[in-house]
Amino acid sequence: MSDTLYIVVPCYKEEAVLPETSRRLREKMENLKEQGKVGKNSRVLFVNDGSKDQTWPLIRKYHEEAPDCFSGVNLSRNRGHQNALLAGLSTAVARADMVISMDADLQDDINAIDAMVDAYHEGYDIVYGVRSKRATDTFFKRFTAEGFYKIMQSLGVDIVFNHADYRLMSRRALEGLMEFSEVNLFLRGIVPQIGYPSTTVTYERAERFAGESKYPLKKMIAFAADGITSFSVKPIRLVFFAGVFIFLCSLIMLIYAVITKFAGRSTSGWSSLMASIWMLGGIQLLGLGIVGEYIGKIYNETKRRPRFIIEQVLDTIEGNDADK
Ligand code: UDP
Ligand code: MG
Repeated sequence: MSDTLYIVVPCYKEEAVLPETSRRLREKMENLKEQGKVGKNSRVLFVNDGSKDQTWPLIRKYHEEAPDCFSGVNLSRNRGHQNALLAGLSTAVARADMVISMDADLQDDINAIDAMVDAYHEGYDIVYGVRSKRATDTFFKRFTAEGFYKIMQSLGVDIVFNHADYRLMSRRALEGLMEFSEVNLFLRGIVPQIGYPSTTVTYERAERFAGESKYPLKKMIAFAADGITSFSVKPIRLVFFAGVFIFLCSLIMLIYAVITKFAGRSTSGWSSLMASIWMLGGIQLLGLGIVGEYIGKIYNETKRRPRFIIEQVLDTIEGNDADK
């Protein structure tokens, strides 16, 4: 068995964890090679997502020290986790038979890699790493993250519960992924759309080894909103149904107003009037906001801008890096 494995690791300002991450991944890689589970050309591919700290010099150093283990991709600037990951995947697809994506911070248990590779050899094209529990996450992170998965599922998005971006994909699954050319990228939602046989491997999520989370609350909310609006038009429909409902209510109110007028009891409803003005204004704004969100998406998609620009690839294996 000599199938080539690439482990793609997006890194943004990860100088604090990279020494440990690279050490552990190298050990794991050598172990896998010895066992014959992966081919000799297998690599750990670090993607530097435009960090200005020591991340890229470190990656370069690892590549120089062990070119048969470490490769690197340098992006021209910071493009965010999903785009960095995609840049790594598109570099790996030309070189590897299977690709595992994982975060640099060692939160994903690297010992799950063995089980993923085994599942690949059993014939699965996609192996999702699923967190068995979130004991080390703060209550807030756990609550918001699990709430997010539940909302996504209830909106009819096919998403794997508690699965982040730790997964193995075979080359043909990756080639399928490359066919999705949308700019608003939400890999977790797209991967299940590719199809092919898939399975899951559970692992315990650890704490970040070092450094700080690169996903502050603001980015998390943007990520969740992107995920929902990229995959579901249900929010738009919800606004439509709210509109219908309110229209029906206003008809009833109209009939009521006419009846009271003819009954001689003139209205004294200043407060209800004010309340309804506010309510309607609020609902209209909400609706506009949601519609605007989708229009923004269309705007971004029609521009067809590149999702990332690769400045440099460090790898001893040649591949076709032209595709984005
Ligand atoms: N990351 C990236 N670009 C960014 C932000 C994050 O490549 O703009 C990488 C980061 O280096 C890490 C992964 O994405 O490898 C996940 O980030 P983090 O661990 O900070 O997120 P969290 O686990 O807290 O959700
Ligand atoms: Mg993390």
